[in-house]
Amino acid sequence: FGVLSLISVNRLKSESGKILKNNYETLVYSNAMSAALDKLSADSSYRVIFDKNLKQQEENITEPGERESTAVARRSFEMLKSFPASDSLKIQIRGALNTINEINQQAIFRKSKHAEAAAARASDWLLVIFSVLMIITFTLAFNFPAVINKPIFALTEGIRSIGLKNYTKRIHLTARDEFGEMATAFNGMAEKLDEYEHSNLAKIKFEKSRIETIINQMRDGIIGLDETNRVLFLNPVAEKLLGLKQADIAGKYAPDIAIKNDLMRTLMQDNSRKQELKIFADNKESYFQLDVFDVIDNKSVIGEVIILRNVTPFHELSDAKTNFIATVSHELKTPIASIKISTQLLADQRIGPVNAEQKELVESINGDASRLLKITSELLNMSQIETGQIHLKIESIMSAEIVEQAVDTVQSLLLEKNITLIQKIEPSVPAVMADREKASWVLINFLTNALKHSEQSGTIELTVESREEVVRFQVRDFGKGIDQKHIGKIFDRYYKVFDESSGGNGLGLAIAKEFIEAQHGSIYVESEPLKGSAFSFELTRAS
Ligand code: ADP
Repeated sequence: FGVLSLISVNRLKSESGKILKNNYETLVYSNAMSAALDKLSADSSYRVIFDKNLKQQEENITEPGERESTAVARRSFEMLKSFPASDSLKIQIRGALNTINEINQQAIFRKSKHAEAAAARASDWLLVIFSVLMIITFTLAFNFPAVINKPIFALTEGIRSIGLKNYTKRIHLTARDEFGEMATAFNGMAEKLDEYEHSNLAKIKFEKSRIETIINQMRDGIIGLDETNRVLFLNPVAEKLLGLKQADIAGKYAPDIAIKNDLMRTLMQDNSRKQELKIFADNKESYFQLDVFDVIDNKSVIGEVIILRNVTPFHELSDAKTNFIATVSHELKTPIASIKISTQLLADQRIGPVNAEQKELVESINGDASRLLKITSELLNMSQIETGQIHLKIESIMSAEIVEQAVDTVQSLLLEKNITLIQKIEPSVPAVMADREKASWVLINFLTNALKHSEQSGTIELTVESREEVVRFQVRDFGKGIDQKHIGKIFDRYYKVFDESSGGNGLGLAIAKEFIEAQHGSIYVESEPLKGSAFSFELTRAS
């Protein structure tokens, strides 16, 4: 387009040049000849100037008719040399010069028009060419040749497929240019990704079936929920416990299942977490420890796993142990009691005299038999509690009667250690709803403990007072007391504060608590090291 423009401009330039060069020079010569003609009669030297210009004009004839007028001017000029005063010749010359001027002016005008037309034509051409070029440019811009966009489309398509994890996608381009290389590189990448995906998938599948096998073989019930509480899986034990099949409830909203399923309802309750459930399974009462674990991924909870740990075997073992203890302690009680009676008879010397050393031995046997009897009866009581066989006879009993029975039992021990028992019993203390034996047993236990932990010749206070709906029985000693760290566990089974003087089995207070709670009462302890302890229980008033 630039070359075309240059050609057009040059053509215009040469057209205008022609006008200047030929016609303009003619006008110059003609005017010079006119001026010389005026001065010719006065100065003959102008003849030379006229002649010189006429010669130049004769060599610069370009227009039709110009030659004839120039010849007229030459002829008249030649004749004028012979008749210098002839006006008619001068008139002829002027006429010829005027004609030459006119012809050239018309030629200039005509050529100027011609140049204008050439310029207009050139601009039309340029416009046409410019438009064509623009059309070609736009066509190229909007409709890329297929040779370029076909491989680009193929590549775009391939990348999109990889994005959608379709690693089997390949690009087939025959071209051996840059696009061909790109396609080869792409196919290599897709192949690697495909290999990687398959090896990972196989690993994940293996891991999945390994975990499924473990979960399915477990004796515990396992239920998996996602973060929206929808069931993901449950193992055969969980299926049996819930009475539901995984295929039926997988993907379902657990609270919806809980509407119709009692166990699922219990599992869904927040307060049921970490508790023991008694479920009828395998044709027997079974015990399951409920544990709920959050499944955490990247610090956020993505679901939970509910585990129903089967603790039935532990219960069965514990029951076997309790039954064994119950049998043994029951069987031991009678012979020990008879040993006690025999030793008492021996000490009494009713059967025959015993010397001082023998008496001491008999008393020692009697003491040991008493301790054995206490231990066996405590074990028996505990086994009854554990098997839920506490037989209570709750009736209205005067509080003073309970106190009397307990104080009578520990009387000899009080004397032995020279302990003063201060009884602070409200005169009109009401009767309580209690089992006489069990309530007395607890008070005896409090008193023997207090005795055990008091100094020789010390004091123990026994207080009985009514408080709104209950009657409170309290035994306070001024012995060594109990450290705060033991207080919370003192009523646990077999819990003993390390103390050489104690010598018990850690069951007394645990039995006391069970006995009192079975009678709908409450048990308390307050203690301060080196200052003493106060054990108390409250029982409901009879009226
Ligand atoms: P034990 O039969 O072994 O005494 P208990 O259940 O009666 O078991 O008591 C549990 C623990 O509490 C004991 O080891 C004992 O040291 C402590 N204890 C009970 N009563 C008192 C008391 N009055 N003063 C200090 N310690 C006590």
